[in-house]
Amino acid sequence: MRKPIIAGNWKMHKTVRESLDFIRELREIKFDTSKAEVVVCPNFTALHEAGQALAGSGIGLGAQNMHWEKQGAYTGEVSPAMLQDAGCRYVIIGHSERRQYFAETDQGVNHKAKAALQQGLTPILCVGETLEEREAGQTEAVVGRQVKGGLEGLESGQVTQLVIAYEPVWAIGTGRTASAQDANGVCAFIRRTVAGIFGQDSAAKVRIQYGGSVKADNIAELMDQPDIDGALVGGASLDAAAFAKIINYR
Ligand code: PGA
Repeated sequence: MRKPIIAGNWKMHKTVRESLDFIRELREIKFDTSKAEVVVCPNFTALHEAGQALAGSGIGLGAQNMHWEKQGAYTGEVSPAMLQDAGCRYVIIGHSERRQYFAETDQGVNHKAKAALQQGLTPILCVGETLEEREAGQTEAVVGRQVKGGLEGLESGQVTQLVIAYEPVWAIGTGRTASAQDANGVCAFIRRTVAGIFGQDSAAKVRIQYGGSVKADNIAELMDQPDIDGALVGGASLDAAAFAKIINYR
């Protein structure tokens, strides 16, 4: 069975102090990590101290981006080994904000997926259509291309190690969530796409999250869907009490 994974993407929020305050507050609240893997993804500068503050909490640490090279003359970039050294076990790659504002391509996302897996990090690979694409009936074409492009050249044993996050761009930060049935439909399509490339066994193992305005009051319905194995949470992960409610959705 697939263990659900709930991850908080803090984006460009929280100083080191604010990150540590969040973790202290979260640790004071009773939450249950036995039914779902829980991850928080602070910004780069807060990663190392956040990782130390999370020790023994059962909550994993993730980064929001990385470069695929091990090291070198890439001013401003951070390598997979550096993330691991800072305590990360996860890394978000190909978030729609990276694709939209920083011109990330499927090919770049594919390099990152391979590099992360090689380093033993779990990539959370984001895909999703814009409103314009959805209204033009292109959701499956766009998401299918992103999934195939992002996973190209991986082996079936590797694909099961990775997490895919379906995040319709029109639902991110807008308060407009996809209906649970709609979100599940696209997640099922992603699973069929994975099955078409890597076979049914791998597709049955890969975890697919939904992301886009997930909150305490819609998480349960989303998690009840057969093809949704967790959530990538932005805005509602910034407050410890709100995030704890999402973790404790049962
Ligand atoms: P949101 O962001 O929950 O604020 O919509 C989700 C995301 O971008 O990962």
